[in-house]
Amino acid sequence: MRILITGAAGFLGSHLSERLLLEGHQVIGVDDFSSGQPRNIELLSQHAQFHFVQADASKPLQIAGPLDWVMHFASPASPPRYLKLPIQTLLVNGEGTRHLLDLAVEKGARFFLASTSEVYGDPLVHPQPETYWGNVNPVGPRSIYDEGKRYAETLTVAYQQAKGVSTRIIRIFNTYGPRMDAEDGRVVTNFISQALRGLPLTIYGDGSQTRSFQYVDDLIEGIRRLMEVEYHQPVNLGNPEEYTMLQLAELIQELVGSRMPLEHKPLPQDDPRQRRPDISRAKALLGWEPRVPVREGLARTIAYFRDLQCADWHPEAR
Ligand code: UDP
Repeated sequence: MRILITGAAGFLGSHLSERLLLEGHQVIGVDDFSSGQPRNIELLSQHAQFHFVQADASKPLQIAGPLDWVMHFASPASPPRYLKLPIQTLLVNGEGTRHLLDLAVEKGARFFLASTSEVYGDPLVHPQPETYWGNVNPVGPRSIYDEGKRYAETLTVAYQQAKGVSTRIIRIFNTYGPRMDAEDGRVVTNFISQALRGLPLTIYGDGSQTRSFQYVDDLIEGIRRLMEVEYHQPVNLGNPEEYTMLQLAELIQELVGSRMPLEHKPLPQDDPRQRRPDISRAKALLGWEPRVPVREGLARTIAYFRDLQCADWHPEAR
């Protein structure tokens, strides 16, 4: 197949591109490096069937020849990154999704949207099933991402219904693994890089807020399975193992083998108190569930970051 992936230089886009290339497909990767890493494109370029287009995915793309799938991953995704790029984040999820849906119509391709657990906002229902409508502050700091993705989902559903596009929507819960950007300010990369460099671990607020962490290979397997079934409603993909940020800090310290002090910083506004996916739909529809326990996935991720020259990291504090 010939597959277009926006955000191919990003963490998830690069893993998915690699998986599809290894299966023998042709991948056209699009990225403007606003949050993606050139290193990921260098890796993918070792495959003869990979073609790179440096472009902003919020603008229309001219792609010659047929396309079987159009998969939209391009967007800043960590809170510090999207807060720095508010308009770009809204545009790539709004205008970008629209142009890519039009491209899917033109090519007769399947369309895939990488959505997010952030559509549930600061959830009042726990764990979160796909039927929960969410609790999002439409004018809060996180709304640029949350509402951008909610609009992208709405557009995708509208194109499926009005134009018959074969669409897929996943809601991705916190995902980690090798090739994450050490500087994007997420909790997993912050804690790992701080622990490896002997710095205090930064806990925002009292650290009692929870997240559920999924290893990247599990996510990619879920996406792969969803592409094979004709199902247009959103599907949660995440690992239901839930941790407080204090527990996560402790686990990472144990795995790194260092005990650094904790440094408390203010809790960002509208930071969700709790998050855990209800994955019944993915289990029933795809026979999918996460295989990599958090402890094992974190150990692999720490090994990856150890191999990079950790002394050169400058993870940004919020
Ligand atoms: N967090 C933290 N220390 C950090 C970075 C993040 O305690 O150095 C917290 C953050 O406030 C949130 C959780 O970790 O409650 C997950 O944050 P992240 O930015 O990784 O992703 P989110 O799920 O909020 O999009």
